[in-house]
Amino acid sequence: MADAPALDFQAIPHPAPVPGETRRQAIADPGFGTVFTDHMVVLDYDEAKGGWHSARLGPREAIALDPAAAVLHYAQEIFEGLKAYRHDDGSLALFRPEQNARRFNASARRMAMPELPEELFIESIRQLMAVDRDWMPDAEGGSLYLRPFMFASEAFLGVRPAKQYKFVLICSPVGAYFKGGAKAVKIWVSSDYVRAAPGGTGAAKTGGNYAASLVPQAQGIANGCDQVVFLDAVEKKWIEELGGMNLFFVMDDGSVVTPPLTGTILPGITRDSLIHLLREEGLDVREEPYSIDQWESDATSGRLVETLACGTAAVVTPVGRVVGEDRDFTIGSGSAGQITTKLRERLVGIQRGTVADPADWVM
Ligand code: PMP
Repeated sequence: MADAPALDFQAIPHPAPVPGETRRQAIADPGFGTVFTDHMVVLDYDEAKGGWHSARLGPREAIALDPAAAVLHYAQEIFEGLKAYRHDDGSLALFRPEQNARRFNASARRMAMPELPEELFIESIRQLMAVDRDWMPDAEGGSLYLRPFMFASEAFLGVRPAKQYKFVLICSPVGAYFKGGAKAVKIWVSSDYVRAAPGGTGAAKTGGNYAASLVPQAQGIANGCDQVVFLDAVEKKWIEELGGMNLFFVMDDGSVVTPPLTGTILPGITRDSLIHLLREEGLDVREEPYSIDQWESDATSGRLVETLACGTAAVVTPVGRVVGEDRDFTIGSGSAGQITTKLRERLVGIQRGTVADPADWVM
């Protein structure tokens, strides 16, 4: 773990910030991931210069890259995703950002990249929020989605870890993922493709995992589904996760099962938070393997009453129906169940400051 150098952030004035009225129009109905704020944070890393340097907060602009930049050839890249919420007192709140900083560094280690001191990760967010807070959408359910990422910028051909990197933080105002409550999603079971194998990069938040999920995701959409569920790469039997969300299975006896963190799924921060909340409410949560056949037979017998997907973007989403080459089954009534609805309300309330924070999660 790198020491935390006290880096000063240089403020580069924006020559032409987006005028207030244009900004207000852009954030009136921002959708997800297409509107961006005015500024960005950039830090450079150079092994020869002793690590991280040149922290700056400046206008959001294109990044110049040498065509031989290692990221373009060998995909040394990692990212994170977290949201800032506005509380009723006008303050901005982050949900467990230190967990994102930690996961970022776990991803960095797996991809042979340098770690970024947690303090710099958090300070970057503070710096950006100080200048772009007016981009917060007013509409209920709106938030600022923060996207920190790091990539190998050194120009060379040859497979080895780069010696130069850039860390960048950008921000996108986003609307409620669900308009009018959480609609149950329909899930496609991918039998042709897997997302991650033991010993691979499944637990890292690296671009390649998402590139690999695009073809199965397209297959899911072609089959009328919203999301894809991936099975384990060895036995093609055990449920892993969706392309961007973890899964929980709620049984009729009140117990809950979620796939264990064995290195092939992303350790979701929402997943960890839900385990905590469910246990606090006295439910028996087990992190254990659950098979696709068991899922189908439990849903059919009624032993399984709810399935929910969770992640930063969609928070908590009910899974209503599961479709695959040779299966098609409905979970419960096919719409949001009681536990899913209650959990979503509690988590959203904690994030937005209207429900008591159980474990110092809000910064
Ligand atoms: N799995 C994958 C593959 C993801 O990309 C995400 C989103 N980061 C998640 C699970 C959920 O993680 P989190 O709750 O930290 O957003």
